[in-house]
Amino acid sequence: MSKKLVLFCDFDGTITEKDNIVSIVRKFAPPECETLIEQILTQKITIQSGVGQLFQMVPSSKKQEIIDFILEEAKIRPGFAEFVRFCREEGVELLITSGGIDFFVEPILAPFDLTGVPIYCNGSDFSGDHITITWPHHCDEHCSTGCGMCKTTIIRRYDPNQYFRVVIGDSITDLAGAKIADYVIARSLLAQKAQELQLPHRTFATFHEVIAILQDLKHQQEVS
Ligand SMILES: [Mg+2]
Ligand SMILES: [Zn+2]
Repeated sequence: MSKKLVLFCDFDGTITEKDNIVSIVRKFAPPECETLIEQILTQKITIQSGVGQLFQMVPSSKKQEIIDFILEEAKIRPGFAEFVRFCREEGVELLITSGGIDFFVEPILAPFDLTGVPIYCNGSDFSGDHITITWPHHCDEHCSTGCGMCKTTIIRRYDPNQYFRVVIGDSITDLAGAKIADYVIARSLLAQKAQELQLPHRTFATFHEVIAILQDLKHQQEVS
C-alpha cells in the first residue's frame, strides 16, 4: 500500500527569499539585535526565547510601518504559485508551518490562493509598548526544543505508517522537524545540516525544483 505524501513547508527564507524576522528587526530594533540573531542561529538560546526577545525591542507603534516595509521588502521564491497549484492538482497535502509571525505571514501570502492549505505561525500582541509574540502552537510534551511554533508537534500528528512526511525548509528552525521527517528538501543552512547528519534530502533553489523533486519522489517511492 502506498503512503500519502504530506508536505510541511517553511515560510521565512523558503517561500520568501529572505528571513522576514531578520529583515524587520534589523530595520526596527536597535543594533543589539545582532547578538540575539547570532545566539538563535548557533542554538545558544531557544528560538522561542530569542524571537520573543527580538520583538520586545520593536515598538508596537511601528506596526503599520513594519507591515508596509515588509510587503515592499519580501520577495517570493520563484515557482511558489506553481507549487501550490501542483499540490492541489496532484492531491498532495500541503501545510505551511512557519516560525514567522501572523502580522507579516498573512499579508505576504494574501495574493495566493491557499484555499484548504492550513497556515501555522506565531501570533502577536501590539497592546503594550513593544511587540509581544504569542505562541499558539508551542511545543507539546514530546518536544523540549523551545521552537515557538513547534513543527515537530504538527508533523507527529501524521502517522508515519500512512504518510511520507517531507519537510521543506532553509534554516535551524526546520532542523528538529527535518530529523523526524521521512525526507527533507533543503536550502542554505538546513541543507548543510542535512548533509552533516546524513538525512535523506535534496537541495533546491526554486519551487520549480521542488516540484521536480516531488515528481521524482512520487515516481521512485511508493507515495501518492
Ligand atoms: Mg526559514
Ligand atoms: Zn518544539
